[in-house]
Amino acid sequence: MLAASKVKIEPGRLLIDGQWVDGGKKFETTNPATGEVLTQIAEASRADVDAAVSAARKAFEDRNGLWRKMSSSERGRLIWKLADLVERNIDELAELETIDNGKPIFESRYVDMPMVVDVLRYYAGWATKIHGETVNTFETAFTYTLREPVGVVGLIVPWNFPLLLASWKLGPALACGNTVVLKPAEQTPLTTLRFGELTVEAGFPAGVVNVLTGGPEAGKAIVAHPGIDKIAFTGSTSVGKEIMRGASDTLKRITLELGGKSPNIVFADSDIDGAVKGAINGIFYGKGEVCNAGSRLFLESKSKDEFTEKLLGRVSKMRPGDPLDPKTRLGAIVSQEQMQTVLGYIEAGKSEGAKLMAGGKRVAVNGDKGFFLEPTVFGDVNNDMKIAREEIFGPVLSVLTFDDIDEVIERANSNPYGLAAAVWTRDVKKVHMVSRRLKAGTVWINTYGLMDASLPFGGSKSSGFGRELGANALEHYTEVKTVWLNMG
Ligand code: NAD
Repeated sequence: MLAASKVKIEPGRLLIDGQWVDGGKKFETTNPATGEVLTQIAEASRADVDAAVSAARKAFEDRNGLWRKMSSSERGRLIWKLADLVERNIDELAELETIDNGKPIFESRYVDMPMVVDVLRYYAGWATKIHGETVNTFETAFTYTLREPVGVVGLIVPWNFPLLLASWKLGPALACGNTVVLKPAEQTPLTTLRFGELTVEAGFPAGVVNVLTGGPEAGKAIVAHPGIDKIAFTGSTSVGKEIMRGASDTLKRITLELGGKSPNIVFADSDIDGAVKGAINGIFYGKGEVCNAGSRLFLESKSKDEFTEKLLGRVSKMRPGDPLDPKTRLGAIVSQEQMQTVLGYIEAGKSEGAKLMAGGKRVAVNGDKGFFLEPTVFGDVNNDMKIAREEIFGPVLSVLTFDDIDEVIERANSNPYGLAAAVWTRDVKKVHMVSRRLKAGTVWINTYGLMDASLPFGGSKSSGFGRELGANALEHYTEVKTVWLNMG
């Protein structure tokens, strides 16, 4: 038997204009570790999207409204209070995330939720530091810029880091004075709904934060809505393209954080044991359902045998386990559909001639209903194979080999994605040379996957555009206005 969850799960409603409303149609959210239905969730209709956008617009426009009258310092304090409430409820939020997504409680309790708190506090601090500039032009003119909020922002989030990726968007959006309509993914709505309650408890004025649950139809209605000024989206590249098309009619501002197929390059002169741990962390953290997963491991031929032996030795000891067990490091795949997608890629790897060196199968963990997959490693992979080209979004590592530095850079870059990359070497010149030439939004050196609220994160090429986190995110949630005053 898997451990039973202790958290109370209410049926999900919609948060519109500070009120929880039932909505019409319902859908189920399930626990991927057991296959059991957790609860019913409201599916936002077009009319619900209209109502949420009107509430957000009213809260944003009303000059006498609480949000508009609030000083930036008060706004910052409110975001800080929200961070305190997340921290106070951290165990409950972590458990909700784990039972809804299947990720190990170790990750949700000690990585995701603490970072949600950090991100909110980081942007709470920014609320008082967003300003325009005075610019000297002519003797007879006073010229300055104002940095103003964009307006109503639609935040559309995927299922792999549900509350964390919501906070990456909501933090800067609110710090800059926008109002939001937030939509979690249909697979994982539970933490966002609890978070919605915490925004009410913190005292955000009605309409500033609206939470709409639902699937692609709700997302499309948000994207098409003329009352929304900007969309911040994280998700797949194919949906990102649809959003770009959908947003064009109303010329919305958009930022897109999309998929990845990140290269992890290990030179023979690196600390091999450290690089082995980094490669494992790079692909199996978050069950590989991580946009920046190091899914293409490039090994320099000279050290390939030693590296592979050590890698497979470690992988052979990894087993998926009960996500609620604090010792588990590999949880359940988010849904049956995603598990079938990953198994399809494993079959493609085998049929295209890659060598299956570890894993490859579904496994039962204390019963047989959960969606658990073995950690999987393919050797003898070349750049043309499907498993080397496409994002799998599961615990599947493709190992490729190289002999030459120019060759590996060229092969690492010859993929449509450009989200992240890593390089392992003790040679400082090589570090800088390779980092400059890799087409990626983030390059890690002798580590994998580190993040901080203060450092921008985002992609190039098919991995999207715009940056989240850090000061860079603020640019995407503000408009610059130039003011000319004639003193002549
Ligand atoms: P998805 O694109 O299917 O869905 C993401 C969100 O968009 C969900 O809330 C969904 O309901 C909504 N949606 C779906 N179709 C829509 C449409 N036509 N219009 C508007 N909204 C729509 O992605 P997913 O399967 O939930 O997440 C996995 C993908 O997200 C992977 O490709 C992964 O790489 C990417 N991802 C990227 C980052 C990053 O920071 N770059 C982070 C996490 C995940």
